Amino acid sequence: MKEAKKRFEIYGPNELEESPKKSPLKLFLAQFANVLIFILLVAAGISLLVGDKIEAVVILLIILACGILGFLQEWKADKALAALKEMAAPEAVVVREGKHLKIPAREVVPGDILVLTAGDKIAADVRLVESVNLKIDEAPLTGESIPVTKDASLILPPETPLPDRRNMAFAGTTVINGRGLGLVVATGKATEFGKIAHMLKGVEEEKTPLEKRLAVIGRWLGVLSLIVAAVAAAFGIMRGHSWLEMFLWGVSLAVAAVPESLPAVVTAALAIGVSRMAKRRAIVKRLPAVETLGSTTVICTDKTGTLTKNEMTVKKIWAGDKLFEVTGAGYETQGQILYQGKPVDIFHHPDLYHTLLVGLLCNDARLEDGKFIGDPTEIALLVAGLKAGLKPEAFERVAEVPFDSDRKRMSVVVRERANGRYLVLTKGSLESILDVSSHYQKDNQILPFTSKEKQKLVQITDNLADEALRVMAFAFRETEHMPSQTEIEKDLIFCGLQGMIDPPRPEVREAVKKCKEAGIRVIMITGDYAKTALAIGYDLGIVSERSSGFVLTAKEVETFSDQELKEKLKEVSIFARVSPSHKLRLVKLLKEEGHVVAMTGDGVNDAPALKAADIGIAMGITGTQVAKEASDIILADDNFATIVAAVEEGRTIFDNIKKYMLFLLSFNLSEILVLIAGFLKGLALPLTAIHILWINLVTNGPPALALGVDPPSPDLMKRPPRPPEEGVFTRRLVALITVFSVLIALFLLPVFDYALSSSQSVIFAQTVLFTGFVLMAVAVAYVSRSEYLNIWKFNPFANKWLNLSVLFMVISQVVIVQCPFFNKYLHTVSIPGKWWFILSALALFYLFPAELLKSLITRLFRY
Ligand code: ADP
Ligand code: MG
Repeated sequence: MKEAKKRFEIYGPNELEESPKKSPLKLFLAQFANVLIFILLVAAGISLLVGDKIEAVVILLIILACGILGFLQEWKADKALAALKEMAAPEAVVVREGKHLKIPAREVVPGDILVLTAGDKIAADVRLVESVNLKIDEAPLTGESIPVTKDASLILPPETPLPDRRNMAFAGTTVINGRGLGLVVATGKATEFGKIAHMLKGVEEEKTPLEKRLAVIGRWLGVLSLIVAAVAAAFGIMRGHSWLEMFLWGVSLAVAAVPESLPAVVTAALAIGVSRMAKRRAIVKRLPAVETLGSTTVICTDKTGTLTKNEMTVKKIWAGDKLFEVTGAGYETQGQILYQGKPVDIFHHPDLYHTLLVGLLCNDARLEDGKFIGDPTEIALLVAGLKAGLKPEAFERVAEVPFDSDRKRMSVVVRERANGRYLVLTKGSLESILDVSSHYQKDNQILPFTSKEKQKLVQITDNLADEALRVMAFAFRETEHMPSQTEIEKDLIFCGLQGMIDPPRPEVREAVKKCKEAGIRVIMITGDYAKTALAIGYDLGIVSERSSGFVLTAKEVETFSDQELKEKLKEVSIFARVSPSHKLRLVKLLKEEGHVVAMTGDGVNDAPALKAADIGIAMGITGTQVAKEASDIILADDNFATIVAAVEEGRTIFDNIKKYMLFLLSFNLSEILVLIAGFLKGLALPLTAIHILWINLVTNGPPALALGVDPPSPDLMKRPPRPPEEGVFTRRLVALITVFSVLIALFLLPVFDYALSSSQSVIFAQTVLFTGFVLMAVAVAYVSRSEYLNIWKFNPFANKWLNLSVLFMVISQVVIVQCPFFNKYLHTVSIPGKWWFILSALALFYLFPAELLKSLITRLFRY
């Protein structure tokens, strides 16, 4: 361990390029790199030289405050995203001090022993020291698309060209098949991949479609408000205000009208959303996926480990026409094999003995430091063998054909140490074992297979599967000498079946129900047996009946044309005995049907389906590096419920961005409406530049941000998925913004008029209107918390950040109006309590028409 640390110091991290960090200063300055802000700075500068100096200084301070606010927000978002990147960083398995360790790939050092398994993206350049059927895709390095077979035993001359160095494996390439061990000879930039990687540099951070769309909208709003502001300023000049005053005022108006925080809030909402998702164990790799998540209509999920706990225990063994039971729970090796309730001696049942022996030895799981490591299916078989008292040490493995999910079986060749005999041992799905077996064993006899006997086996398997047991079949063959690789899986003797339980995850049932309510279909895609899949699917509520009409096997799928399969897809929710290639076809067809598809996967061959899906979801625990790389999201706990949680977060984020826009745009629009109407009516200037900027600071700031992190509304997962083509600006949202803003203007304009005529003081009337706007913002903020539900249908005070920022808004308003000190700087005068009461009552009363119109609009526009 110490040595590894030392070498890490010497050779540096195993990375190609350290990502340059954005400096906080740059980020801060970027807040002012906006044309409007720039013009405002210029205007304030001119004013500072020749006009109202106090006003200019106050304006500069407000701009600075806005900048700090924006900076804090982006900084936080950046930090959240950086933390996320770390979580999604690749890992590698190395052997250090005799132990297998999973470490971040960047910590691999020269001299480490790297473990290579199918689906790994190799972390460093290695000299192979062990290889079993190792096939590696070196396309990223050599451009050669056919996988290269590697062989650790080769000795090659040093001048061998890169593509022919078959005793080496290189960083950046992927293991397609088999396994191996390699001694790390180069890391980071010193690897062959590192040498060419400068060509791949400059990957840009991806903006999400929403961010892009909002940037465009933001620009339009900018231009629009500039025009409006210019017109308004021209009015002002005609009314006899000075040029300079109106210039500053116009620019302030333009700045206030544009929701300049829009892109930042969206980024922050996304970033905070993804860090919330990470807490719920879904790690987002690509930000755009978050948006897509919210509109997911179908989730295609694996069964084993995702819907189930993946804590397997063998419960039943069928061998030689007898059904045995296995006692003991979990991975405890204490337990017995019973026949009709009585313990049996397995050596009196050769068929049973062989079944257990194959399970024990045709197995890559192992015991390390008292803990089982490996595939849970294999651990269960290992445990069953150990319960029966079998000894793995008595055999030595000499050859193997690894498992892959297309063949659905694996084989090993072992030599019995005591007598030197060779045994071929194969396990896999019943069908795949029957394909390679010519005989079967019953007690001491070896009999040729008849179709009747095979039929019986299918029946037995069905019966076991109906109890939701995962069933594996076992076969063997004795030989005098070592078979060649292609001869291993031939003429085998079937010996028995083992059925294991894999209890469903308790939280999944609830998650499936949630999906149903949210209009999301759940489709189970599994390599397992149809009956087992159906039993579990029924248990979890994925199908409503135990009817075979809801299940299709890969064989059946292959007989259907695309059109027929699309028809079937309307009802069928379980696909069994599926290989990765079928997944791809299902994704494509579902997408053609207009679905937004989330698809899970873990294996090497799952990558195409994961890429094709709208949202590829990789398993964090059992998933291969290749699957993780092809996916948009990684499930840290492999749990289906986590997918649903992520969908929920995705919907929340989108919802919150809309709440924010509803609040901000209706509020900003109302300001413009009041100002223009004021001019048209020939009233005095309703708000000064400072008022406008202040309102902009307190409303576009804290409360808007608080809405960006609003807790989900109660109806969030009761609504159907958002159509993917639907942007943020739905007809409903536009209608709501229009109605809310006109309402505000209708409420506040008469107030200004009355205050002006009753007091004959412009500054008094301005202060009243100014205060009216701020109090109205409180009401609008709460109304905006749901686009669909009326405010009495949910707890309006559930967002503590909003409550706090509203409190801050109101208190600061009281201070700047009632404290003589601030009056001079913020162009205010103190107003009597009567006016505070009137304005508060108005804000409260605003809720009624606003909520009424909300209901009406909800009825008029679905989206
Ligand atoms: P799933 O994870 O959906 O059950 P897999 O592709 O992992 O699907 O497995 C498909 C089938 O392959 C299993 O039902 C089982 O019969 C067989 N199988 C799974 N794991 C192994 C293994 N390690 N060795 C041999 N056969 C296996
Ligand atoms: Mg599996």
